[in-house]
Amino acid sequence: MKFEKYNISASLKKSLAEKGFKKPTDIQFKSIPPILKGEDVLAIAQTGTGKTAAFAIPIMETLLNKPYKGKNKRHIRCLVMAPTRELAIQITEVFESLGQYTKLNILCIYGGVEQESQIKRLNEGVDILIATPGRMFDLNYQGHVDLSKTEILVLDEADHMLEKGFLKDIQDVIRLLPKYRQTLFFSATIDEAIKKLAYSLVRNAIRIQI
Ligand code: AMP
Repeated sequence: MKFEKYNISASLKKSLAEKGFKKPTDIQFKSIPPILKGEDVLAIAQTGTGKTAAFAIPIMETLLNKPYKGKNKRHIRCLVMAPTRELAIQITEVFESLGQYTKLNILCIYGGVEQESQIKRLNEGVDILIATPGRMFDLNYQGHVDLSKTEILVLDEADHMLEKGFLKDIQDVIRLLPKYRQTLFFSATIDEAIKKLAYSLVRNAIRIQI
């Protein structure tokens, strides 16, 4: 089925067409419908399969369709956690290019650079935050990242998160998020440690393997 036939906003279809994305890849075909339904997803998919758009498209569609519930502009609606700055930037580029005709505010934060511009953008209101754990905690601790009403959590390259020793960070982030949320868990590989982490985060997840 072509993207034209999907029940998604015209603003997303326009950017998909401009990028030359006509048909979903395998992972997109399998992930988009359950994510749009609000289901949790546990997906095993490698880079290069189109996994980023597989969550970016339905997340943006979901946020476009649901009214924002926060009282002030500071609540993050979707948090995407990535193990490295490079991956965080790549994910952000996909959200920005596919979301260019939406009014969603998208921000990437990572360490090693000054915080001022990131804080300014956070205070203006961010819908989708893509972050590495360290800087996210830093800015949360300073009161600039409010995750108390976050609707969707994405863990991308969860296997690399564990390899990099971010298990405790992930567990700490979960405590900042609402219990009732949608969780999307992506990993290139799966073993016992990853399964254990995955099943501690997702509920009745749809399992997708590419
Ligand atoms: P990713 O696995 O997210 O790193 O994506 C791998 C590459 O596939 C990127 O260069 C995307 O721009 C491209 N891509 C993603 N989805 C599609 C699609 N539906 N049609 C064509 N190319 C795509």
